Amino acid sequence: MFEGSSVQTRALDEGFVEIRFDRAGDAINKLDDSTVGEFRAVVAQIAADPSVRGVLVTSAKSVFIVGADITEFGAKFSQPLDVLVADIARSNEVFVAFEDLAVPSVVAINGYALGGGLELTLAGAMRVMASTAQVGVPEVKLGLFPGFGGTVRLARVAGLATAMDWVASGQPASAEAALAAGVVDALSAPDTLRDAALALLRRCAEGAVDWRARQQRKREVVAQPAQASVEQVEAALERVRRTAPKHQPAAAMAVEMMGRAAGCERADALRLEAETFGRVAQTQAAAALVQTFLNEQALKKLQKCHIGSAKPPARAAVLGAGIMGGGIAYTSAVAGTPVRLKDIAAGPLDLGMTEAARQLARRVKSGRMTQAQADALLATIQPQLDEAGFDAVDIVVEAIVENLELKRRVLAATEAALRPDALIASNTSSLCIADIAAPLARPGNVVGMHFFNPVPSMPLVEIVRGPRSSDAAVATAVAYAAAMRKTPIVVRDGAGFLVNRVLTPYFNAFLELVAEGQDFERIDRAMEAFGWPMGPAFLNDVVGMDTGSHVGDVITAGHPRRMRPIERNAVKLMVQHGRLGQKSGAGFYRHARDAGGRLTKLADPLAHALVAGLRPDAAVTASDAAIVERLMLPMIGEAIEALAENVVGSAAEVDMAMLLGVGFPAYLGGPLKYADWLGAGALLARFDAHAVHGPGYSAPARLRAMAAAGERFHAN
Ligand code: NAD
Repeated sequence: MFEGSSVQTRALDEGFVEIRFDRAGDAINKLDDSTVGEFRAVVAQIAADPSVRGVLVTSAKSVFIVGADITEFGAKFSQPLDVLVADIARSNEVFVAFEDLAVPSVVAINGYALGGGLELTLAGAMRVMASTAQVGVPEVKLGLFPGFGGTVRLARVAGLATAMDWVASGQPASAEAALAAGVVDALSAPDTLRDAALALLRRCAEGAVDWRARQQRKREVVAQPAQASVEQVEAALERVRRTAPKHQPAAAMAVEMMGRAAGCERADALRLEAETFGRVAQTQAAAALVQTFLNEQALKKLQKCHIGSAKPPARAAVLGAGIMGGGIAYTSAVAGTPVRLKDIAAGPLDLGMTEAARQLARRVKSGRMTQAQADALLATIQPQLDEAGFDAVDIVVEAIVENLELKRRVLAATEAALRPDALIASNTSSLCIADIAAPLARPGNVVGMHFFNPVPSMPLVEIVRGPRSSDAAVATAVAYAAAMRKTPIVVRDGAGFLVNRVLTPYFNAFLELVAEGQDFERIDRAMEAFGWPMGPAFLNDVVGMDTGSHVGDVITAGHPRRMRPIERNAVKLMVQHGRLGQKSGAGFYRHARDAGGRLTKLADPLAHALVAGLRPDAAVTASDAAIVERLMLPMIGEAIEALAENVVGSAAEVDMAMLLGVGFPAYLGGPLKYADWLGAGALLARFDAHAVHGPGYSAPARLRAMAAAGERFHAN
């Protein structure tokens, strides 16, 4: 029989053949080109063998098939559109040949059948699913939709409305949900799955189940009255418009295409799917989201390397129970690391504990934990005003006010209370770890752990390696962040580290535009339409003007070659007038609670009047595109500089840090993926065109060299 490296067959009794997916040297099965090729050969062999009475499809792994091989996408999708579409059509032939076998086929879904994995099962006549398995078509999360005939078959197997819902949402479904939706035919306990599938195959082969009718249904138009399907498509499109992330067209393209394909027989429907898939695969969103997936994989590997054999701390302490310290202590406790929370005043400690209790109550309410578990967890946070028990902790995270002298003084006292091997991690946003560590007795034990606000929900932690930080200290900090289910990215010490450094030229460009007379609300609208979750004026309000202004000053001073202080500075003006942003009720906007108690922003004529005093002449109006370019260019430039200076080791880390740290628009994939999309040559021309605006717009040397050599930051 067939013995491939991913697919094998063997003869069973009664003329049945088992096709088994078992990828050599891997824990999972996936549909890469070679697996599809082997499946093609297997199906041809079975089709040519008149003695075969039925086909059982199984997996030898704990999953069924987790999807296509995403590492192959970049090279495939960058082919000319017609070549790509022809490629897809050729893969489709395999699934059609499987579907058109003259004998019944039953697929045993033992674990994840996702994307191409589920699409393959849909070409089979019937599906039995283990009660513990999950199925779904998550392609939309990569800016794509199923392209192996999945949209066509799902609509014919489960109905158009269900198919559009599954494809547009990308959500996986449990066994019960898949059965209820009609995607699978029967469920089974995991240990009897194979027997159940074989029994069903026997019934098909004996004629007790009309499997031919099921296969035939997939060759015909979707059995829906035309008017009903028009309404279903409209309803699905309306949902997509409400829920799809900005500039990610995959869901809408899929739904619209599926509406048209519903009226076609199989061959035409598959052609429509392939053509539309070719177009969606070449969108900016698909390129970016596929890259982000690969970046996530790269980051996981790096994280393992950094951690090595280090263990996360068993006991921790946090200094400062303010906005950040409270969040860090809570997150540590949830991760299972008990924590002592120290402040100099009882007020912040009370606030911190109240907030932790409130977050835990939400978990209890949503059924994620019992009240007893919440109580036990809260008891692992020990609020205190002294350093009792500090000699037993493995790490202290410092989150007191942003003042170098104060941090040095406090940490010297803390160090004296710690064991010699205990670590100190500062959560500073702008100071250098080298400066904080310099006067301490054990600077090798000091690193940065730069969390983002709000700590419980923000996924990124910059782990700052100071010039004297030991590898062991970095490894433990990475392990601690990973235990907290955060994404740690190791960065080199220096003003603003990576994320705030790259963000500062963007804020500075905003301030320059405002000083030139551009309306700040207009800037916010342009940047939000471009894909940012909030514009820069609103973001300043959220961060707090005093904090933002202070951090901006420190970072600008730390990078004098590319950044310069803004003279007519709207944020400083706001601070002078006590308009600190959300926290004081007013900044660029007024902030008030609506009837439902939600904080909302309102336009504020006073803010406009204040800012009008900054500009020399009349207001100016630039186009949205000009505003976007003015703000994005210096940010991209700074990202390129930071990579060139080895603040992090790879483009993947730069892009992931900006996506996770500041909500950089997902469809751009991060500043360097965005640079790749624009192209080094074209980007260089834009820098040169804007050079008059100051040093932030001078093209980085690395970009010039890349443009000359035709290079990119990411391989595809
Ligand atoms: P905060 O003002 O809310 O809290 C600081 C807390 O430290 C206060 O409760 C204060 O009483 C306490 N404190 C002062 N001296 C102390 C001492 N000697 N021992 C123990 N506690 C002491 O400040 P925050 O916003 O939580 O910022 C804390 C640190 O985190 C700063 O270094 C800041 O730059 C950094 N950071 C802040 C953010 C943010 O968005 N707020 C984000 C990242 C990093």
